[in-house]
Amino acid sequence: MRLTDISHARDVMRRHNINPQKRYGQNFLTNPRIVDAIADACASDECGIIEIGPGIGTLTEALCERYKKVVAIEIDRALLPVLDETLGRFDNVEIICGDAMNIDFNELVKEHFGGMKVCVCANLPYYITSPIIMKLLEYGTLLESITVMIQKEVADRLCASAGSAMCGAITLAVNYRAAVEKVITVAPGNFLPPPKVSSTVIKMTMLKEPPVACGDAEKMFEIIKLAFGQRRKTLSNALSSVYGKSDVERALDTLGLQTDIRGEKLGIREFAALSDLL
Ligand code: SAM
Repeated sequence: MRLTDISHARDVMRRHNINPQKRYGQNFLTNPRIVDAIADACASDECGIIEIGPGIGTLTEALCERYKKVVAIEIDRALLPVLDETLGRFDNVEIICGDAMNIDFNELVKEHFGGMKVCVCANLPYYITSPIIMKLLEYGTLLESITVMIQKEVADRLCASAGSAMCGAITLAVNYRAAVEKVITVAPGNFLPPPKVSSTVIKMTMLKEPPVACGDAEKMFEIIKLAFGQRRKTLSNALSSVYGKSDVERALDTLGLQTDIRGEKLGIREFAALSDLL
């Protein structure tokens, strides 16, 4: 019996005395079609999988059925005996008890996946959504792809096109490292307990090369942060304290952009060119 069977999940939780913990963002999936859609979309056959937050093992069992090796990182020690029971029939899974924010993924891949392609798959706890995505993106091509269930609103931002109102600094950070697509949107009723908002699964496939050449990517992202930190200001005003208003205006002019343009109108290409000029 699968854990998407609610009476089975409730029985497991009752026997192990588990109450979903809000502080760990514990909303367990209950719809088998959604679990299968995520597990199917997240990787190709030859990949190993890192799952962040297996919970009681609902998505993990679907991953174990499909992929050669699954390593799941769970912060909540109380769930370990549950996972022992629910995943006991699989010999291709390992559970690591720890905080995914503190894990060195280079080490983890080296130690557990020797030479395999590795993909991340997670129904993420909402409280670490942005920091964990930023952390994983930093590993570049160590990972093939990152498939995560996140709040719909955040997914809309990550998938926004440059120049749109939804585009933010994090959108451009994703665009620099990965090609992003939406997989499925999921209503609150598909979780136990239901969260307050809808969720969307997105898949970020890591790019082999950045989409733009940029002399100093760190500097470009400092500029992007300044630009989006004060998005009501013109770009030249937002950057003036660090780069000088007239220098910024001159650079914008060289790029054929209006000198009173706002930062939110620029895409990753324009920010790369601006960063190189400044
Ligand atoms: N994968 C399960 C599912 O889909 O039903 C559970 C997903 S639940 C939204 C998030 C899971 O992440 C919980 O099991 C929670 O304990 C775990 N978690 C929360 N913070 C974590 C962290 N920093 N590192 C690792 N796991 C974490």
